[in-house]
Amino acid sequence: MSGLPNMSAALTAESLGLDSPAAIVQTDVLIIGAGLAGLSTALALPKSLNITVLSKAALEICSSHYAQGGIAASLDKEDSVADHIADTLIAGAGLCEANNTSRILSAGQQAVQWLCEQGVPFTQIPQEDNAEPVTKLQTELQTADLHLTKEGGHGCRRVAHADDATGRHIMEALTIKAQNAANITILPYHEALSLLTNSANPNKQCQGAQVFDHNNQRQLTFYSHAVVLASGGLGQLFKRASAPNVCVGDGVMMAWQAGCRLANLEFIQFHPTGLALDDSSF
Ligand SMILES: Cc1cc2nc3c(=O)[nH]c(=O)nc-3n(C[C@H](O)[C@H](O)[C@H](O)COP(=O)(O)OP(=O)(O)OC[C@H]3O[C@@H](n4cnc5c(N)ncnc54)[C@H](O)[C@@H]3O)c2cc1C
Repeated sequence: MSGLPNMSAALTAESLGLDSPAAIVQTDVLIIGAGLAGLSTALALPKSLNITVLSKAALEICSSHYAQGGIAASLDKEDSVADHIADTLIAGAGLCEANNTSRILSAGQQAVQWLCEQGVPFTQIPQEDNAEPVTKLQTELQTADLHLTKEGGHGCRRVAHADDATGRHIMEALTIKAQNAANITILPYHEALSLLTNSANPNKQCQGAQVFDHNNQRQLTFYSHAVVLASGGLGQLFKRASAPNVCVGDGVMMAWQAGCRLANLEFIQFHPTGLALDDSSF
């Protein structure tokens, strides 16, 4: 991160003093954000599409990489999606939308299986009695093989994990897959500044984004058929948070400026877990 501007501060073309015409880049799909949301979208889209994924800083600076505990899904043979939904609605204290809760949790097993197929080395149930759970890369890993932990709010063991560094293992596997995909280009240190909209179209259709390339200190204009906002949360709203400093709500700001409606802004996930030492953020 040395030598880079403060990622917590919003950049604009004006604040950077950029008045020269920006170089133009064409791509089918522009994904803003290279965390789990961005990379899984890139890998799930048809291989016929030319996809560009932007990351504001180094690839490992994202919440997805920092996540430790694991992913909750109904995977145990004693468990059921109905039980997972019931536990979630209780934990949500009336704030969860029931249809969306059901739709998301019903896809949980399939989503974890997809991660297995991308090469994520989830910790597995030991094959022999009294042996420790094992974490190793194994092709054709099935969700039934996975060691599960139990976390608050869950009535049974439901959390698939890769040691205590689940996010790092997931992101390493997906990054390798994406870097090896001929149709995907990942650009670290490329910061989206604003979305381009077609003002002649009454729907203000999004056509791409203005981007600042920190590597070469230049502005780029990306034109694309579709733009995916996957730029993470707003952890830095809080003085002490263990979320990375790139997550400052850029996607929310760009969407608002482009004319999108915003909803549920009171739901800000942030991670305060850690030791508060002197002036460190966590
Ligand atoms: C310490 C910690 C532990 C966690 N543990 C768990 C856990 O155990 N289980 C769980 O389910 N969840 C956990 N979470 C939450 C989980 O990690 C996040 O909800 C999830 O990773 C968010 O993924 P994402 O892809 O939306 O965002 P991120 O992974 O944060 O990715 C955001 C991406 O957007 C990019 N970006 C941002 N702004 C711009 C811009 N202007 N231009 C270009 N790129 C931009 C960033 O560079 C980054 O690549 C944890 C979070 C933290 C911080």
